[in-house]
Amino acid sequence: MRLKIAIQKSGRLSDKSLDLLNKCGLEYTRSKNSLFCYGRNLPIDLLLMRNDDIPKLLLGGVCDLGIVGENIETEYSLEPVYNGEEAERHSLSKLRSLGFGQCRLSLAGPKETEFRNVEQLEGSRIATSYPNTTREFFKRQGVGVKVTELAGSVEIAPGLGIADYIVDLVSTGSTLEANKLDEWAVILESRAALYQPNSPLNSEKQALLDRLLQRLDGVLQARESKYVMLHAPKDHIQAITDLLPGVDTPTVLPLQGSDDRVAVHAVCTESVFWEHLESLKEAGASSILVLPVEKMLA
Ligand code: AMP
Repeated sequence: MRLKIAIQKSGRLSDKSLDLLNKCGLEYTRSKNSLFCYGRNLPIDLLLMRNDDIPKLLLGGVCDLGIVGENIETEYSLEPVYNGEEAERHSLSKLRSLGFGQCRLSLAGPKETEFRNVEQLEGSRIATSYPNTTREFFKRQGVGVKVTELAGSVEIAPGLGIADYIVDLVSTGSTLEANKLDEWAVILESRAALYQPNSPLNSEKQALLDRLLQRLDGVLQARESKYVMLHAPKDHIQAITDLLPGVDTPTVLPLQGSDDRVAVHAVCTESVFWEHLESLKEAGASSILVLPVEKMLA
């Protein structure tokens, strides 16, 4: 019995997916063709696949889990499958949002066009690699458009005269800028997520998945968390605790040779910004140290 996880072979999510699984303590031996990673220390293997094949592999039972962008899952879930006369929709269950691969699927058009609303696009040609999500968006808006599917380089379609406008993924916005396009509307926000088909796993695989999820939660929480150490006046402990993001009960320790000051140690489960440190200093804290947290197990 081995659990199989599909991840992106190359692209924006691949290194971060591998890094996350490594942080969960999984070690792999890569096959010669590099498309299969055999789990050395746990019976969990990786299949390195094209992003948009991952939902298919999950629903086909080839893999038990998959890490893929929410945009890909949405696009796939909108693809009708004809089962005899009936059109059905696929669905996967999202187990965890993984906090990387942030992007948005946006409607964009040439800078010289003044965009007022989606209705003005009635009858126009839209190029995209996400035809199902795009059609669904315009259908919901009650606007008729002609959707042209392109596998890549969508941003050059208006310049080439293939389409009037585009629907494409935007991360920093620099690709749109370089192609003299403006982002007009966000159709969906996306991040990488861990998915599972809706069918249940056998009890052995489920136990392994539970163990992996426990580690994953620890890594994801540790990523946000910081260990904060500081010195504080004894009578300001509550005020200082209130300023520590995501802390309920800090550890308070005596300070050698000081009656009126103590050491306060706490794990902040939310991001700690410079503004937090400045407020702590104003409230009487000193010697403030912020340290990364590597692993966490509740
Ligand atoms: P950017 O210039 O950073 O806005 O990135 C835009 C380009 O990168 C477009 O060609 C997108 O198709 C692609 N892109 C941006 N974010 C992602 C993502 N999370 N996954 C896959 N492709 C992306």
